[in-house]
Amino acid sequence: MILVKGSVTLKKGKDQSIKRFHPWVFSGAIHSSAAAEEGQWVRVEDAGGKTLGFGHYHQGTIAVRILHFSDVPPSADFWQNKLTAARSLRLSSSIPTHDINAYRLIHGEADGLSGLIIDVYNGVAIIQAHTPGMFNDREAVTQAIRDVLGQKITAIYFKSPPSHQQKSEDGYLYGMSAVPHIITEYGNKFYVDWETGQKTGFFLDQRENRRLLSNYSLGKSVLNTFCYTGGFSIYALQAGATLVHSVDASEKAIALTKENISLNGFSPEKHAVYCIDTFEFLKDKKDVYDVIVLDPPAFAKHKSAKHQAMKGYQRLNAEAFRVVKSGGIVFTFSCSQVVDRQLFYDTIVSAAIQSGREIKVLHHMAQPPDHPVSIYHPEGEYLKGLVLYVH
Ligand code: SAH
Repeated sequence: MILVKGSVTLKKGKDQSIKRFHPWVFSGAIHSSAAAEEGQWVRVEDAGGKTLGFGHYHQGTIAVRILHFSDVPPSADFWQNKLTAARSLRLSSSIPTHDINAYRLIHGEADGLSGLIIDVYNGVAIIQAHTPGMFNDREAVTQAIRDVLGQKITAIYFKSPPSHQQKSEDGYLYGMSAVPHIITEYGNKFYVDWETGQKTGFFLDQRENRRLLSNYSLGKSVLNTFCYTGGFSIYALQAGATLVHSVDASEKAIALTKENISLNGFSPEKHAVYCIDTFEFLKDKKDVYDVIVLDPPAFAKHKSAKHQAMKGYQRLNAEAFRVVKSGGIVFTFSCSQVVDRQLFYDTIVSAAIQSGREIKVLHHMAQPPDHPVSIYHPEGEYLKGLVLYVH
């Protein structure tokens, strides 16, 4: 049963975005509220008292995240229905398959569950709650995962996002599984550690882009910067790269990359790791790699940091354009949600002009279908990238 205790009444005219199925209600749109408690379900009504939907309440800028657009309250099978729908969507794009056993089952707003992430790693589901409401509902989510995926799931782990305080709540909500755990992605193997790793342990969102790198790796020297688990490095080696260099500022990431290289049985002679800042690493290089991958962490997490972030992307890309060989390829990404596709593109143009080299766009890259974007919530599009040919 879902208990809806409180209610929120919107100011006149502030119901437009909800009628277009955008799930966020900003605090400034609220006229009054009754019994609305942190992390609890509330009913949202327009200024005339008409019910618009139901969602989680939070005392913040985004005050309500609507999870159920209806004038009748969510039924007892609400969570099962959402997970069933999310699973059908994944299956319709052939995820998982016989050689992919790690995927994102719930991607927040795109699956109608703002604040919730569920990643599945070869039979183990990781729940990440980004709102107090999702945190409170974690047991109901656990039950729904078990109902919908049944025997396919052997353990369910709750992991708080880095920005949250309730780390003491991290742990198994069902079953147990030793870490690191091995997953398979297009036949490549990776160790995943959700207990101590970044995010839920692995960057599933780069799957298709890593695969695209395979097309450009045969007989090439490849530099993978910001490598974390070495995802791009493994794909490059698998596709026949002659030499791969992996760079990350974190010692843990470098150790993980090395373990993944040996897990896949690649000769250490073809691969070297560098635990160093990427800018530092690139500084004294010139004309050395056929292919360079730039997959930095979000340079801007908030709008206020946007300008600084643009400068960061410009500098990084200009460095790569200087270092890559003539006729080389650059895979460049931004996962900052506040930097949209056009802004990212414009920044790459600036970097290209700065480098003075002739550059062509070969591919536009994005997040894969298990990280969908709701057409009503464009903010959900965060990963963008370009494959560039540098003359
Ligand atoms: N490409 C990875 C994900 C990258 S996550 C994948 O496909 O899975 C970003 C990584 O950048 C993290 O591992 C972090 O340790 C590293 N990092 C952050 N700042 C850095 C810097 N200045 N130089 C090198 N690595 C950095």
